[in-house]
Amino acid sequence: MANEFQREAGRWRKFEDMLGILDASLAHISQLVSVNEKLSAEERIQRLETLKEAARDIAIVGAEAKGRSAACGEMARQLNMELQSGEPISDLLGLYDSGVESAEQQGQRSSYTRAPEVVRVQKLIDRLARSGDEDLEIEEAVGAASRTLRCPVLNQDIEKPVKSTVCGHVYSLAGVISALYQEQRVMDERRFPKTLDLVPAEYETRCPVVGCQHKISAGKLKRDFGTELTQRQLQSARASVDDSDAVDVL
Ligand SMILES: [Zn+2]
Repeated sequence: MANEFQREAGRWRKFEDMLGILDASLAHISQLVSVNEKLSAEERIQRLETLKEAARDIAIVGAEAKGRSAACGEMARQLNMELQSGEPISDLLGLYDSGVESAEQQGQRSSYTRAPEVVRVQKLIDRLARSGDEDLEIEEAVGAASRTLRCPVLNQDIEKPVKSTVCGHVYSLAGVISALYQEQRVMDERRFPKTLDLVPAEYETRCPVVGCQHKISAGKLKRDFGTELTQRQLQSARASVDDSDAVDVL
């Protein structure tokens, strides 16, 4: 039974991941549209408006998928605890229903609050509206991403990047999970789960980035495909440098 829920949590997580890939592609396309010299500023803005609508829809469905993944993960955790302690959970189905219900609310709420993906496209639109035909700097986004390739918790290159949806900071998956558990005074690494949906929703810690005051918890974190993309680009850039033995390619 617990395994069933764990599998279900995994399915929703996969779905959420797919939306994340869409999201990263959409950000990439938006950048390309905003600098497309073949289009007038007005045409670029029109296309960006369409992309913004898509970003909003992705945010709504993504929030719900994330909530459902968390609800299923919580069920798996509760059932495992029941198994260990022998104490039965009083209202298992009620717990599941309320989890799914709050997931649906999260989806609805994100349609009103402005999702970061939507804000990003809106910024491109605003800049185009201000600057007319002037070209936008594509390096800005790439530069911001490459500055975040070190995990602030583990202080090493980021592995499996995870992004905070409240402040946009990026961490290694293992790093942010250990930060959340250490805040609970759990120091034994063997007790840290491998995925975010197995982290209890109430576990909270301050963002590990120095100077950032935001509170983060599993529900406010998601896999960061944008950083994954940048990592791959940097890797292939490094590989081509190694191949040619050239020093000044970058
Ligand atoms: Zn932060």
